[in-house]
This record gives sequence, structure tokens and C-alpha cells, in this order.
Amino acid sequence: MSFESLGLSPALLRALADNSYTTPTPIQAEAIPLVLAGHDVLGGAQTGTGKTAAFGLPLLQRLAESSKPATGPRKPRALILVPTRELAVQVADSLRSYSKYQRLNVTTIFGGAGMGPQVDNLRRGVDILVATPGRLIDHMQQGSAKLDGVEVLILDEADRMLDMGFLPAIKRILARVPADRQTLLFSATFEAQIKQLALEFMRDPRQVQVATQNTIAATIQHRAHPVDGSRKRDLLIDILTARHTEQVLIFGKTKHGCNRLAEQLEAAGLPALAIHGNKSQAARQKALNAFKSGKARILVATDVAARGLDIPNLPLVINHDLPMVAEDYVHRIGRTGRNGAQGEALSLVSPDEAPLLRQIQRLLKSDIALEAVDGFEPSRPIRLDGNAPGAGRPGGQRPAGGQRPPRKPGNRAHGRPADRGAHAHAHTGQKQGGQRGQGQGQGRTGERRDRRA
Ligand code: AMP
Repeated sequence: MSFESLGLSPALLRALADNSYTTPTPIQAEAIPLVLAGHDVLGGAQTGTGKTAAFGLPLLQRLAESSKPATGPRKPRALILVPTRELAVQVADSLRSYSKYQRLNVTTIFGGAGMGPQVDNLRRGVDILVATPGRLIDHMQQGSAKLDGVEVLILDEADRMLDMGFLPAIKRILARVPADRQTLLFSATFEAQIKQLALEFMRDPRQVQVATQNTIAATIQHRAHPVDGSRKRDLLIDILTARHTEQVLIFGKTKHGCNRLAEQLEAAGLPALAIHGNKSQAARQKALNAFKSGKARILVATDVAARGLDIPNLPLVINHDLPMVAEDYVHRIGRTGRNGAQGEALSLVSPDEAPLLRQIQRLLKSDIALEAVDGFEPSRPIRLDGNAPGAGRPGGQRPAGGQRPPRKPGNRAHGRPADRGAHAHAHTGQKQGGQRGQGQGQGRTGERRDRRA
């Protein structure tokens, strides 16, 4: 299978060659011909599968094929809705690189940045607009974003957008985009609300799905400790001190965060090495060898740096931060409990990370036991009352205090009715509020997170 055989134009093929893309990924092979043929597409895929090019390449081709001579400033012909500013920037960068031999303008708008420059950009003319929903509503309200020329609408990471409370905003935006358009929706999961959205707003969508790995080995016990972000480091130090004999791989979110964490652990008398993408290959290899040989007990890593890392008999993995992509949780904790050995994974989860935890539970289709540690209870509860089925039951959080019900080897630490029952009795009485994101002002419900993002 080649990109040529998918029917892509020479300008795109050249750009792909510049990017050293030789073979389409499975989602690209499936989705590109369908999008080129004008179908609405419902894509089951997450970051890392090549989904951006799966919708971006045929989008660029369709826009080029039907381009009309511009009269006056151009209104967006394609609108891509994304949950976060990071994804907006990433998607726009990819589209710019794929369209380098085309004359198309790609513009981003997202919360947390000034409106002024965004208004200027919109005024100058846009072909493809990549936007977070909350900020787009702002621009629609003040008349700087006009959506009546949109031919293709793309919802990227739709499940994450709904998780962030953007559904009302999305519906308002959908109402302003011409009905006669092509709609593409990409999501890692397909809960009822996503299906409903597709049913309401898409025309006979074709479904494409790439297989996801979403199972945890039965040999891994995994659970989460709710804790304030500011106290994670202290809790981590407590855990590492209490379990001073075990080798542990710790996952952090950013390169900088990993470095700092390793330094803080060192300062607390817990020598640790950090590996991440900023380090040279030689430095990474050296740290990895020290860890593999057992000379180093603690390794702090980012997802990217840990890719392909194979350490036999690793007993413990700790997520200092939850991964941004649910599937990475599976990859991370899959470092332990290999080859039939027992393994354990702990995640330190701050109240802000509740949406990420929900995503993971959805992917796994089961709950992760939340156990507060004495003295580290978070100041706010972890709210799991979002849209995840099975989430939001009272009883998810119980004080751990080191007391776990005994489990037979091989028992899963989550997802079985017995576990749920065991957790329910010790529920800490946190309020399980109403539907998050509802009734906080039409269409702006995700804006706070949008801004933070
Ligand atoms: P995405 O899932 O869209 O975030 O893409 C994940 C990564 O894969 C990005 O770094 C892309 O540049 C890269 N990528 C996407 N498609 C291909 C391809 N066909 N060949 C090589 N790399 C690709």
C-alpha cells in the first residue's frame, strides 16, 4: 500500500516524501479514500495512529480541487475543532507541513491567548481554521469568525471534548455551519453521547476503526492515589522510602518535569535518573543500562523516552502524572507484570486530572480503585461524575492508609463487582455533584479548561 495508490495529488505526495512518510498507517489507508470520495467518516483512532494525516491529507486535496478564485478575505472552508491548544498547534503544524506545496492558510484560535491577534488573523483570510470550541464561540459572538463558508467540519478527539464539557459549545457551532457539508469525527472511544452526536449531525457516516490495545495483564495490580498536585512529590517520596528495595519506573509529563523530579528525589536521598527526549541517545542509553543492570533503582521517564523500553522483572511503575492519552496508560503500566511475574502500578491523581482518569477508565471499560493515603487526602475530590459509564458511583474513593483487602495473586485490582463492593463501604462521603459542565453558561462550559490548556 502506498500513498500514490490512495489517489493523493503530486503536491501532497511531495510533501509526504519531505516528511519521510512512505507507507500509510492503517487509519490513513482506510479513511483517505472515503474522505476523498466525499463521505462523512466516523474514525475510531487516537493520537499516535496517524489520524491527523488521515483527515488532513484528503481535506487538503479536496480544498485544492474545488478552490475558487478568492474575492475579498477568505472565510474558513474547513473547521477543525480540537479539545486543547496543544492539539490545535500540533494539528495546524501538521497541516502546514502537508500543504507546503499548496497555497492555503491554516490559522489556530484557542483560549488563554489574546483575542486581538486572532481577530487580525481571521480578518486576513483563512482557509482552514483549527479551534478550541470555547474560544470559537467568543469569536462567533463578536462576529470575527464566520462559519457560513465551511465545507468540511472535523471534530478531533471528540470524546475528550465532551469530557471537557464542550458539548453545548459544539452544538452551537454545529448550528452555524452549513448543513451541506462533509463531517468527519475522530474519537478514541464511542460512548452514547458521541454516537448521538454522529447520528444527529452526520450523513450516513462510514466507520473506520483501528485496533486499540486496551487490556491490562491480569498480573498487574493497579490503583490510584488521589492527592493534590502540590503534594505529589511528598507522597512519592513517602512511597519510595517505604518501598526502598524495589526498582521503580516513574512516569512524568514533561521533560523538564522529569528532570526536576529526579533532582528532588536525589535531594531527598533517593538517587534517581531521568531519561527524556532532550537527552542525547548516548546519555539515555547510559541511564537505561544503569537501570537495567540494577545499579540505579529509580528511573524517571517521559512516554516518548520510555517507548520500546524493555526491563524484565520490573515490580513497580508509578505515574507521577497521568498520561494525556489514555492508551499510554496501558503502555506505561505494561512495563510491569511481564512474563507472568506479578507487577504493581500506582498513579498519583490530582483533582485536575479527573478527566484523564475518566478517559482511562473508559478505555479499560472498568474502574481504577482510588485509595487516598492518610495525610495526603486531596483538598478537592476527584470528580468522576462525567460521562464515563460506570464512573461517578459513590464509593470509588476510600482511605487506603496502607490497608488493602487481601487479593489473590493474579486478581485484577479493579473492575470486578467484588472490588467495587469492597470500596463502597469506606466511601469518604465526597459530594458526587450533578452533570459536570452543565448549566455553567451556555456554550462556555469548557472555557476554563480551554484557557488552561
Ligand atoms: P497523529 O496520530 O496524527 O498524532 O500522528 C502521530 C505521529 O505519526 C506524528 O508524528 C506523525 O507525523 C506521524 N505519522 C503520521 N502518519 C505517518 C506515516 N504514514 N508515516 C510515518 N509517520 C507518520
